[in-house]
Amino acid sequence: MPSYVDPSKCDGCKGGDKTACMYICPNDLMVLNTEDMRAYNQEPDACWECYSCVKICPQGAIAVRGYSDFVPLGGLVHPMRSSDSIMWTVKFRNGNMKRFKFPIRTTAEGAANAYEGERGADINDNKLLGESDLPVPTMLAK
Ligand code: SF4
Ligand code: SF4
Repeated sequence: MPSYVDPSKCDGCKGGDKTACMYICPNDLMVLNTEDMRAYNQEPDACWECYSCVKICPQGAIAVRGYSDFVPLGGLVHPMRSSDSIMWTVKFRNGNMKRFKFPIRTTAEGAANAYEGERGADINDNKLLGESDLPVPTMLAK
């Protein structure tokens, strides 16, 4: 099921130019109805169900039905982000709840450096990222 915005919870990100869900959607599906200041998915068929908008919404207003292997029909799944983990809450239609907490990073927030220890940061270096400094074997160099 594609993303769905609960209009009773959405506050239009308090009237900002670009809402959090518009910013994060990799497929540019979320738009803000400027008349009632509520966001909606403008093309549900194109939704990848990636959960990015669900995770970023500060009001917890967006839902995507969980995949049936971990959320049976009628259940709800809600991720709650912290700086180092996500707590997934699954609510079953009989009222039972289960929670799973997973770490999301191994470095401090904002400290990840994809180029650390790799070439690629120097624009004058004509070798490829990860390419070795070792000489090319003569058999391949010809
Ligand atoms: S991120 Fe949440 S609160 Fe903000 S506009 Fe989107 S649905 Fe509404
Ligand atoms: S679930 Fe992913 S693809 Fe679908 S609207 Fe949200 S951010 Fe976009």
